[in-house]
Amino acid sequence: MCGIVAYIGKKEAFPILIKGLSRLEYRGYDSAGIALLDSGELNLYKKQGKVANLVEFTNGKNIHGNVGIGHTRWATHGEPNDVNAHPHYSMDKRIAVIHNGIIENYDTIREELIKRGYVFKSQTDTEALVHLIDDIQKTEKVELIEAVRHALQSVIGAYALVVISKDHPNQLIAARKSSPLVVGIGEDNSEFYLASDATPIVEYTNQVVYLNDEEIAVVDVNEGLRITNIANQEKTPYIQELELHLEALEKGGYEHFMMKEIFEQPRSIHDCFRGRLNAAEGFVQLGGLKDYEKRLLNAKRIVFVACGTSWHACQVAEYLIEDLARINVEVEYASEFRYRNPIISEKDVVIAVSQSGETADTLAALELAKARGASIFGICNVVGSSISRITDAGSYTHAGPEIGVASTKAFTAQVTVLTLLALRLAYKKETLSNSRFRSLLTELEAIPEKVKRVLDKNELIKEIAAHYKDSANALYLGRGSSFPVALEGALKLKEISYIHAEGYPAAEMKHGPIALIDEDMPVFVIATKGTSYEKVVSNIQEVKARKGKIIAIVTEGDTQVKEMADHVIEIPATDEHLVPLIATIPLQILSYHIALMRGCNVDQPRNLAKSVTVE
Ligand code: GLU
Repeated sequence: MCGIVAYIGKKEAFPILIKGLSRLEYRGYDSAGIALLDSGELNLYKKQGKVANLVEFTNGKNIHGNVGIGHTRWATHGEPNDVNAHPHYSMDKRIAVIHNGIIENYDTIREELIKRGYVFKSQTDTEALVHLIDDIQKTEKVELIEAVRHALQSVIGAYALVVISKDHPNQLIAARKSSPLVVGIGEDNSEFYLASDATPIVEYTNQVVYLNDEEIAVVDVNEGLRITNIANQEKTPYIQELELHLEALEKGGYEHFMMKEIFEQPRSIHDCFRGRLNAAEGFVQLGGLKDYEKRLLNAKRIVFVACGTSWHACQVAEYLIEDLARINVEVEYASEFRYRNPIISEKDVVIAVSQSGETADTLAALELAKARGASIFGICNVVGSSISRITDAGSYTHAGPEIGVASTKAFTAQVTVLTLLALRLAYKKETLSNSRFRSLLTELEAIPEKVKRVLDKNELIKEIAAHYKDSANALYLGRGSSFPVALEGALKLKEISYIHAEGYPAAEMKHGPIALIDEDMPVFVIATKGTSYEKVVSNIQEVKARKGKIIAIVTEGDTQVKEMADHVIEIPATDEHLVPLIATIPLQILSYHIALMRGCNVDQPRNLAKSVTVE
């Protein structure tokens, strides 16, 4: 987490940094800060809270400079306040540093530096880094770049960082390990942008270089970009062209990014299968995995590693791949997998699923799987992200940038890619009859249209939301592949409205949660037509018998559940395996309206950040 942005060139840096920070705010909003070089002085402005607070704080101040760094924080060490906000100064205010990640051995470094006379102002791990660089430079009498290199050699942990110094007004130094960093190359190779992702850069240039782990970049207005690694080996920058468009980063008339992204789903799902699916020709393929298909088909197991919403998408995939392609699937929390000494061998395929492609736990799980001989694949949304670069192969979800912290379109895009994967494997393994295979392809192609029809119910869903906005708890129930939809529905509600919510397989309710049911408990049930419809109907009866409130997602034309439920939201009929792609939508919209009615910040819920680059 944490967003990093920096600029060096001929333009005024301040507006570029502020705009960049706003774009990166989804990564953390505990504090925001900026350091700028102006007429030989290194000035620092930082403030607890959102970028808006920093803007207010700097209002009316005469801020100038063509070189600067900016940071929006998601605190790991030290509470969110002004002092702990980045950038952090060296004691003589000569150097300032911004950092994304965790310096795990900061305590040892800090103690050592205190003995040497350094005085710490903040509780952050980052401050140890700036004093360490300063100390090395002074004691070893080396150039700043060497001091940075030596400091990083003794650091354990994760970092993306940028260093600015009064002594080097023409350059910025950046480095990364496990946290992302992109270099944008501006005009005449004498203007540079640095950022955690490409969103603050796209407006100015489409020429970018993604730094690799343990690389250090120096951007110099006179000498251009130079990349070395921690061991001081020269690296040739690999310049890529950005495919990101500016419009994708704006709200486009919606009040919130979350709503914009919910409404983008017909298009994002379509973009996701474009070129990969053709029902008329019976064609389905994931280009990125083509060369590795044999590995997948011969795998003893497919193990998915993921966190949060992505983990729910993998749960859906487990139902699909096991049923359609008859391959054994396991779904693991990446954070547990990596510390559990899992039994993984070269017979396994491990697939990581992550929106950002930077999730620290998921990356670590992949590395472990690779070390144990498994083939590793990735499914992520952000092009050029770490997961896409360390895996043997993979597929992008093509959902476009997702800015709202609560994931919506990225989830349905992940489920779409995973459905394509299940269908492709089933096709190759011949585990489905031709007619069933064809009908699934046709149904999948029709999903964007059906999602549109659910979006048309926004007003109805808003009315339903008003009934439950004051609830303290909520239960979500589903069976089969609708069980992960229930989990995702509950997660959405709790993360943006702060209502305590739990997802359960409907039949499990009687083993515990039923004790919670009374007239104040809303129970959201996915009760669409399919194999376990009748069973879910019985579960609904059990809730009603205890005076619980039922809000049911049903198939269009349903009459049975309608009679029992307090509210129903009808969704178009589809194949049972594709229900998650449609049933998720009303639950997203419900959470959005409930959160809004409770006065919550839906795009930036408290304590959360989007790209979880810390463990
Ligand atoms: N560890 C640093 C801090 O707490 C950076 C946090 C992060 O990147 O999430 O300030």
